[in-house]
Amino acid sequence: RRKAAVARARETAVTVDGTRIEVFANLGSAADATTAVAEGAEGCGLLRTEFVFLDRADAPDEEEQRIAYQAVADALGKRPLIVRTLDIGADKPAPYLPMATEENPALGLRGVRLQLATPGLLDTQLRALLGVRAQAPLRIMLPMVADRSELLAAKAALDRLAAAMGVAAPELGIMIETPAAALSARLLAADASFFSIGSNDLAQYTLARDRTNAAVAAGLDGLHPAILRLIAETVQGGGAHGRWTGVCGGLAAEPAAIPILIGLGVTELSVPAAAIAETKALVRTLGLAACRTLAAAALDAPDAAAVRALVEPLLEQAA
Ligand code: PEP
Ligand code: MG
Repeated sequence: RRKAAVARARETAVTVDGTRIEVFANLGSAADATTAVAEGAEGCGLLRTEFVFLDRADAPDEEEQRIAYQAVADALGKRPLIVRTLDIGADKPAPYLPMATEENPALGLRGVRLQLATPGLLDTQLRALLGVRAQAPLRIMLPMVADRSELLAAKAALDRLAAAMGVAAPELGIMIETPAAALSARLLAADASFFSIGSNDLAQYTLARDRTNAAVAAGLDGLHPAILRLIAETVQGGGAHGRWTGVCGGLAAEPAAIPILIGLGVTELSVPAAAIAETKALVRTLGLAACRTLAAAALDAPDAAAVRALVEPLLEQAA
């Protein structure tokens, strides 16, 4: 089966009834991009830019960042690239950033909060991205948004910097990884061009389980019906403004989740490069109507185990 999946890895993925699902790769370096293209990625749905910032004594300047992002864009060629702005906090400290030790880094100054609180950090990264010359759309995505004001502040900065540089501002989307963002999706969709569900953090914050704490992390199941309801709310809120929703957290590569996500209206899955072939192969076995029926049942299921039991017959059919 793996062999058959790999043989078709570079083809697009369409459900049996003709719904196109984009299968993108999550990347953490330019070298990753080359691998992902070879594995059949149609683009990058999440470039984790932390690789430019970590393990060094001083901050990367605009030019150094631009070169790093340009290398990823070049490796992707005509495939679109979604770049996530810096997502670090007290759990992954950078010595040159004024980060205090925190008792609760997951709830602390991280992601877009840190960027908005640190003068120059966001602007430098945005200018570096505005300087990239790509053959395909380059989109920017904000991590950890919980409040509309964060989106508006970053958007204002992007528009101001693009105008100053005399270039068009790229589309700006947000990750949906806090319950607040999911529940505010309709409001946020007025100003965000797209949504990408960060299911790893969305599960952490919804289930109140620290993803780095081994004593509780094993119970982080993204198929918990409460999380599925937040995803449904996100897709619907986005759809009200014509925005698409993708998933770039671990759920996107989980066979048991894929039919449900498609049934909820997700149209893009961004997965580790090694999961691209199998993800596309599974999509090709699915029908949208069955996925929708399944998703509706999953929303009403009592727990994640019950959701998994509901999906089982579909996966057996696909095998
Ligand atoms: C997520 O939270 O699901 C996500 C994709 O971001 P990260 O894993 O980098 O926090
Ligand atoms: Mg995250």
